[in-house]
Amino acid sequence: ALLDVPLEISGLSKRYHGSTERYAVRELSFRVERGQVLGLLGPNGAGKTTTMRMMMGLIRPDAGDIRIFGRSVRAGASVLSRVGAFVEGAGFLPHLTGRANLDLYWRATGRPAEDAHLTEALEIADLGDALDRPVRTYSQGMRQRLAIAQAMLGLPDLLILDEPTNGLDPPQIRQMRSVITRYAATGRTVIVSSHLLSEVEQSCTHLVVMDKGQLIAAGPVAEITGGGDLMSVGVEPM
Ligand code: ATP
Repeated sequence: ALLDVPLEISGLSKRYHGSTERYAVRELSFRVERGQVLGLLGPNGAGKTTTMRMMMGLIRPDAGDIRIFGRSVRAGASVLSRVGAFVEGAGFLPHLTGRANLDLYWRATGRPAEDAHLTEALEIADLGDALDRPVRTYSQGMRQRLAIAQAMLGLPDLLILDEPTNGLDPPQIRQMRSVITRYAATGRTVIVSSHLLSEVEQSCTHLVVMDKGQLIAAGPVAEITGGGDLMSVGVEPM
């Protein structure tokens, strides 16, 4: 049963070196069920990126545990093969096409090429003709969509997206939202962070609201947006 739970976080804490009293993340616990689209919401500095980087196994927690499909992230990288991740500033080779970049990336992961999965991921990402153009010709929005496509390759059971709409304009934000919705429609689980409720409330089924490293509220979207919890932490309701 626990092996069916995409993500379970318990008592998670993290302080960065040099910051002795301030917790980036403090005693954070929540759980994400299969098929949910979870929005991790909070103002700048709330601890979203730190939380996501711990989920991805990129930084170590000081305390607490993260279980992905029942297995602790601490135990090693094996469970991370079921995770696709987007973080800001993914590097691409500018003179190669988007497709060639994705192909290189996929081969570097050493995972078997399940052609149907690769094709489906590219359809969901909806890059169109741009896929066959050099990345140096891409707009910021296109680069970000390519990075999202990269995270989706192989259709991971858990997709973790750290502020995928950062720096995008409203049409690009809408596009990003529909990519997330299409991915979720495959029945897989998505976690997406944002500091704007308006960006996540339509595409998410559940929300976890953080402020100053701590959990402020968690539950189904309608439950959270119906309460007064969001205004108090400065998350913009519109
Ligand atoms: P943002 O939306 O601005 O990315 P966030 O919610 O993702 O914010 P984090 O980036 O996780 O928040 O930051 C949480 C806290 O940890 C902040 O106070 C931040 O200044 C601090 N912090 C983040 N990275 C480091 C680091 N490498 N060294 C020291 N402190 C850090």
